[in-house]
Amino acid sequence: MQTGKIGVTTENIFPIIKKFLYSDHEIFLRELISNAVDATQKLKTLASVGDFKGELGDLTIRVKVDRKKGTLTISDSGVGMTADEIDRYINQIAFSGAEEFLEKYKAQANGIIGHFGLGFYSSFMVSDKVEIITRSWQDGAKPVRWSCDGTPEYKIEDADREARGTDIVLHISDDSKEFLEDHRIEELLRKYCRFLPIPIAFGTEKEWKDGKEVDTGKDRIINETNPLWTRKPAELKDEDYQKFYRDLYPAQEEPLFYIHLNVDYPFNLTGILYFPRIKTNFDIQKNKIQLYCNQVYVTDSVEGIVPEFLTLLHGVIDSPDIPLNVSRSYLQSDSNVKKISSHITKKVADRLQEIFKNDREQFEKKWDDLKLFITFGMITDEKFYERAEKFALLKNVDGKYFTFEEYEKLVKENQTDKNKTLVYLYASDKDDQHSYIQEAKARGYDVLLMDGQLDPHFINTLETKLKDTRFARVDSDVIDKLIVKEDRKEVSLPADEQADLRLVFEGALPAQDHYWVSFEELGEGANPVVITQSEFMRRMKDMSAMSPT
Ligand code: ADP
Ligand code: MG
Repeated sequence: MQTGKIGVTTENIFPIIKKFLYSDHEIFLRELISNAVDATQKLKTLASVGDFKGELGDLTIRVKVDRKKGTLTISDSGVGMTADEIDRYINQIAFSGAEEFLEKYKAQANGIIGHFGLGFYSSFMVSDKVEIITRSWQDGAKPVRWSCDGTPEYKIEDADREARGTDIVLHISDDSKEFLEDHRIEELLRKYCRFLPIPIAFGTEKEWKDGKEVDTGKDRIINETNPLWTRKPAELKDEDYQKFYRDLYPAQEEPLFYIHLNVDYPFNLTGILYFPRIKTNFDIQKNKIQLYCNQVYVTDSVEGIVPEFLTLLHGVIDSPDIPLNVSRSYLQSDSNVKKISSHITKKVADRLQEIFKNDREQFEKKWDDLKLFITFGMITDEKFYERAEKFALLKNVDGKYFTFEEYEKLVKENQTDKNKTLVYLYASDKDDQHSYIQEAKARGYDVLLMDGQLDPHFINTLETKLKDTRFARVDSDVIDKLIVKEDRKEVSLPADEQADLRLVFEGALPAQDHYWVSFEELGEGANPVVITQSEFMRRMKDMSAMSPT
């Protein structure tokens, strides 16, 4: 038997861990099961290169609760550890880093805990005592037991274990009794382990026989080891994607589109993104994308990893290249994350472009639902705008759809003002502005329907992006003046007199409302002086009434 002192100066490791890791105790299970998965994957790798020549056998990872003993045990049939390895991997690395780690991250400790790979340590958040009973895969390796009750003293001794692999036995502490409840463990397994690549068993399968429930004694596997996103798109059917969506979001309506991401250069990333169907603003939910790292659930808060407008999408992203064990602010400045983010944007745009090109009819049918995502993206993301301007649509009051290019062609002849600026007329409320719409149409003008939640912002974006174009609401009182009339005469009043006169008028108008004064040559149907409220100001008012989420 060997005893030793773990390399920390702190007297007792419990208080530190409990204090700083307070916010998210439950992640211990994710960490321990991840270690079990790692150990199993390592063994498979050793077997595939021929270093391990034995039988792999059953590699299922088992989670067991023993309420009488007050223990929770995680068992794997992976590589196991020799006494020497325990010394290196558990005693040295794990504990020696504790002080430094806490020094370094104290400030962020609460918020970031869920993102830390606290690994084996985290077991002490919920346990009075932790045991490792393990036997290495190597020929002739002796089984060992390591135990530690949270003081810096640990014990290593000989153990009894025939099979290769590791048991981690947690003696659950009084204030963590919840982790001895089946339903609680079940819930955590579902959250963190649902798509892990090695089968995980919790409990046994029950069966109904002759009106009675009987225990079959067979393992009940709680995870799906080959989730859809890890499979080849070519092997999958539309139904598979629909079904996966229903599994992830049982209460949601069918999605509009999906995008299967599959990148292996310059970084690794797989995933499936769905455009959800949004009926009302209440359906808008952020952070429905789940982030995985090698099939281990990490978080559903993807802000900073995908562009903001894509946080409205649903689905799964899996990447071993997103540094998950760091704080959010670090994440956002990480160059890898930036690359990933712009790549996802590109993929999403490419897919939309493809659907638009191949099946415009379908695209138009879905446009009203898609519009929110696409306009939000165009407003907030320069790069996305550049890609989306080829497939984004404008809809007119008659329900016809146009690309930007098509629309420009449509109104070019008839809807320019005297500066040759294109004037895009739009209605923000079809019913309210009905008579104005009729009037504009009677003059041969086309009227867009811009009644979406984000449209006031979108119009602003379009005005800065589209060359020589401005938007005017169909009921603005100068509609007909904005549009070139062949017979319009140049104003003969000299410019300096116009300026003087303008001052007089402006002096009489409330300044904060930004009125604009202009002059017109007298003639049939013309007014000598035209006072308009700036379209921009009007829109600002609209905007403050309707803000994006
Ligand atoms: P990390 O997993 O980030 O390396 P951990 O603290 O979780 O850090 O684990 C430390 C090390 O202990 C692992 O790298 C591994 O070598 C060893 N280890 C932990 N759990 C197991 C296990 N179930 N089987 C084999 N080795 C393990
Ligand atoms: Mg680990």
